[in-house]
Amino acid sequence: MIKQKKQGQLIVISGPSGAGKDTIVENVLKKNKNIWLSISATSRPIRSGEKEGVNYYYLSKEEFEEKINDNYFLEYAMYADNYYGTPKDKIIEHLDKGIDVILVIEIEGAKKIKELVPEALFIFIMPPSEKELLKRLSGRKTEDKEKIIKRFNIAYQEMNEVTKYNYVVVNDELKEAISKVESIIKAEKCRVDRIEEMLVANKEELIHEFLMEVEFDNSLISEKIKED
Ligand code: ADP
Ligand code: 5GP
Repeated sequence: MIKQKKQGQLIVISGPSGAGKDTIVENVLKKNKNIWLSISATSRPIRSGEKEGVNYYYLSKEEFEEKINDNYFLEYAMYADNYYGTPKDKIIEHLDKGIDVILVIEIEGAKKIKELVPEALFIFIMPPSEKELLKRLSGRKTEDKEKIIKRFNIAYQEMNEVTKYNYVVVNDELKEAISKVESIIKAEKCRVDRIEEMLVANKEELIHEFLMEVEFDNSLISEKIKED
């Protein structure tokens, strides 16, 4: 009856540092093989446990600026004194194959994506409270005290932007938050603006076929009655 767009969905996920974006996305990816996570480039130092090309592509500030000049990024922004950017190259390729693409980016980058791809899906991950956010930021043990405070200050500006997103998910109970993000992505696939074509079958032909079948069945019944 309908043909839906084959094109994958571009999904943008933002939220304050420590809200749980990476944890949620990691779990969503494990269960959904048709979603691809875009790996960003950054000029921030690599954290222990992170891997080049898995978490980020790690560049010096100079290398990053060179790539900006080469028009390598779909969007980029400065966050806590470091550059972060989304490489352009593989995104269109995945979307064209019907694979959904997730970008986990801060709000300035998300605004640029909104200008470029207004039909993208924008999800904001919110911590259950400011106190819990600070606890998660420090509990992660990836930043020193000064950097934690910097990120916590940025978080307050970011949380003011939540209404610019399509959905907000409060990450209190992790399983529940993962399931909500998955449900939002599924629901998005059912939007009527993803209908590419209405395929209307020939009504007269269907009625004719139906009547022929009824007639055939009736003749079988009357023959059975005669035999009895
Ligand atoms: P972000 O990617 O938003 O910066 P992370 O995914 O790195 O955040 O999560 C920050 C910290 O909070 C991590 O140590 C993670 O294990 C923890 N965390 C994530 N979600 C929850 C949750 N629902 N409850 C408790 N801790 C969580
Ligand atoms: P972190 O240093 O904690 O990995 O990331 C800091 C912030 O940068 C997070 O909000 C993260 O989502 C964001 N970020 C990561 N990659 C990109 C990117 O490619 N573009 C933009 N604009 N932000 C990004």
